[in-house]
Amino acid sequence: MLKKSCCLLLSLFCALLLCACASAPSSAEVPPTPPIAEATPTPEPSKTPCPHEWKDGACLLCGEACPHEWENGVCLLCGEPCPHEWEDGVCLLCGQLCLHEAHDADAVCLRCGAQCWHRYESGLCTGCGREPLLFDDLLPEEYLRPAAHQGQCLEDTITWPGGRSYPLSVYLPYGYDENGRYDLVIVALGDNNHAPDCTETVHKLHKTEIVLSNIYDHLIEEHLCAPFILVGLEHVRSMPDFDFFDRLLRESLFPTVARNYATWLDPDDPASWPEVREHVALCGISRGAVYTLHGGMQKAADLIGNFCCLSMGTSRLSVVDALRESDLGSRSIHCFVGVTGYNDPLSGVGDVRSYRHIVDGLDCLQDGENAFFVGVHDAHNWVTWSAGLFAALQYMF
Ligand SMILES: [Zn+2]
Ligand SMILES: [Zn+2]
Ligand SMILES: [Zn+2]
Ligand SMILES: [Zn+2]
Ligand SMILES: [Zn+2]
Repeated sequence: MLKKSCCLLLSLFCALLLCACASAPSSAEVPPTPPIAEATPTPEPSKTPCPHEWKDGACLLCGEACPHEWENGVCLLCGEPCPHEWEDGVCLLCGQLCLHEAHDADAVCLRCGAQCWHRYESGLCTGCGREPLLFDDLLPEEYLRPAAHQGQCLEDTITWPGGRSYPLSVYLPYGYDENGRYDLVIVALGDNNHAPDCTETVHKLHKTEIVLSNIYDHLIEEHLCAPFILVGLEHVRSMPDFDFFDRLLRESLFPTVARNYATWLDPDDPASWPEVREHVALCGISRGAVYTLHGGMQKAADLIGNFCCLSMGTSRLSVVDALRESDLGSRSIHCFVGVTGYNDPLSGVGDVRSYRHIVDGLDCLQDGENAFFVGVHDAHNWVTWSAGLFAALQYMF
């Protein structure tokens, strides 16, 4: 009886199940199952991130190492000094520029290992303390022969005030980079000298040959001064007066040089030229030296911070009076160099006297500080002027 009722119950259950199946919709009509919501993780006990107090490369609170954000010599997070990885004077980590403050006898920077150059203040190199290399006679043969690394000599022209075209000689240093910034040396030549005489002309003297560009190459190759661009002006005798020379510099030479060569002069912003006058030198030879005094120092000191007078000859005290009354006195002069050939019948004695007058008479010049005298045991010639320029370029740049 029990067995029978069990069977009945089972068959009843099966019938109900079948019935339920029959009333269910077909699989095609099944609505899409909604996406299963991701299981929310069981909240852990709350843990705020470490606020990190970086010090000397690690966090004082959690001990984590500082991820270091180097900028200009230090880590902005922990203050640790940058270990510096130098390449060409720039740190690859923090971007700092090395100022090459100290260097060895070969002018290699003691900090970053970059090649730099000797640079003189008050007659001593600020990087290594040495004195400039000076000669009071014909330069040694090793400085006269061609250097291993030679610059380039070019010819250019400038248009004088009034429209006349005039030749210009140009020396560009070895490895010249037209995107660089080079110090500028302007040479004003004396009577009967032509523009290339201060660059590539071969001057035959004392059974030797003097080529000025060779001397410039050696100065740069031995890192005795910074690489520079030099431009030579045809002799100044054909210029009507010192005002004309001043206009020539301002209106013709500076704009042409700024446009064509990589100096510190911004061709698009002449108003900024006075700011870089320490990077500009005017060197005058013989009559060119007289123009350097009266046209350059007296009238154009706003644009030029270095002057060299080679065989200036004039002992007129009026020079000092004129310079005192000019705006030179209100300006700092980076460097003034007087050069004479002691055996120069034209200006030997006068040069020494003129140098003394000028340096003693002007507050902006101090002998041995920013004013230097170079005497050469020769005459009114390229022996004196090559040795003089060799010295002056070191004092200036
Ligand atoms: Zn921490
Ligand atoms: Zn750090
Ligand atoms: Zn660094
Ligand atoms: Zn350095
Ligand atoms: Zn040095």
